[in-house]
Amino acid sequence: MIEDLRKLVRPGLGSLAAYKAPPKVEARAKLDSNELPYSLPSEIAEALGRELGAVDLNRYPPASCTELRAAVADDLGIDPATLVFGNGSDEIITLLLTVFWKPRPGQAAAKVLYPTPSFVYYRMAAACTGVEPVELPLTAEFELDEEALAAAMVEHRPNVVFFARPNNPTGSLWSRSAIERAARNYPDTVVVADEAYIDYGGDSMLSTVGEPPNLVVMRTLSKLGFAALRIGFLVAHPDVAAMVEKARPPYNIGALNQRAATWILRNHAGTLHRRCALVSEQREKLYISLSAIDGVHPIKSYANLLLIRVGTPGDGRAHEVCLELRRRGVLLRDFDKPGPLSGHLRVTVGTPEENELFLSELKRALA
Ligand code: PMP
Repeated sequence: MIEDLRKLVRPGLGSLAAYKAPPKVEARAKLDSNELPYSLPSEIAEALGRELGAVDLNRYPPASCTELRAAVADDLGIDPATLVFGNGSDEIITLLLTVFWKPRPGQAAAKVLYPTPSFVYYRMAAACTGVEPVELPLTAEFELDEEALAAAMVEHRPNVVFFARPNNPTGSLWSRSAIERAARNYPDTVVVADEAYIDYGGDSMLSTVGEPPNLVVMRTLSKLGFAALRIGFLVAHPDVAAMVEKARPPYNIGALNQRAATWILRNHAGTLHRRCALVSEQREKLYISLSAIDGVHPIKSYANLLLIRVGTPGDGRAHEVCLELRRRGVLLRDFDKPGPLSGHLRVTVGTPEENELFLSELKRALA
């Protein structure tokens, strides 16, 4: 029975493992998911609770996210017609591949190109939509290989290209000119600047959206302290936004989530940006402290995370240290498997106390 069903599964999904989020466990420092370490101050949380109490739960949510759309547009100083909302930017990734899906003449399937290592969901969304992934290896320093990019664009003619800027899990910020060039040279390719981490550093490409029309930006509230709300959005030329909007499931953003995000943006946008600035300052301190530890090599980051090399790739030291830290209640993301991230761990920047705890436990684990 089950085997008969398995035969019906889309090729490409069969061999794919479901996304494995780190288990929710009690920890002294949860530094494994690139979340903001701060929850809302209690007086703000209580006021938000009263606001949410007024939402009509018997009604469907506003289908076009009208109020949220206006709040985001005001916050970023953009035209509301450029926005498409997703249940997290994960959903926007899938929507882009669902819409820009048609193979070019001579291709068996449309292609999507993205540098690797980068955000794992690009690969998963390709498998879900039947779009062929083309993975462009980063240089040994995790920089964009611009020559290889130019060659891959010619060879593969992808429909969509994703650039996480800053990148996860490396924290690197690739040259915007390479991305703009790809968009200008290939006006029939959707070039996406995924700015999930832009509030932690780097120059946004928001002002280039629509110029050219195939250059689009993706954002999320997840890294700003609202991962629970699952609100991501695309900013695109209004005609491109209208194409993507056609594939958006109706009511994909719950009414409570819409109201919460709208209220926070309207009343506390300043708090959000202050908290990110605090984390960015902490990241710089953490980078300096980590650089001073023997056998530990952090990579310069523009996001709320640091990728660190522990020991020598292939010696298994990073994995051991990650397990030891876990036993000590400090959770990191383990990337120490054969491949370009061998020997690496990713730490999310936490509160000053969490960062201190991480540093002292790391030194113990290494001893
Ligand atoms: N883009 C990048 C680069 C990410 O790292 C993430 C989440 N880790 C996302 C997009 C997705 O964010 P969300 O679905 O939470 O909006």
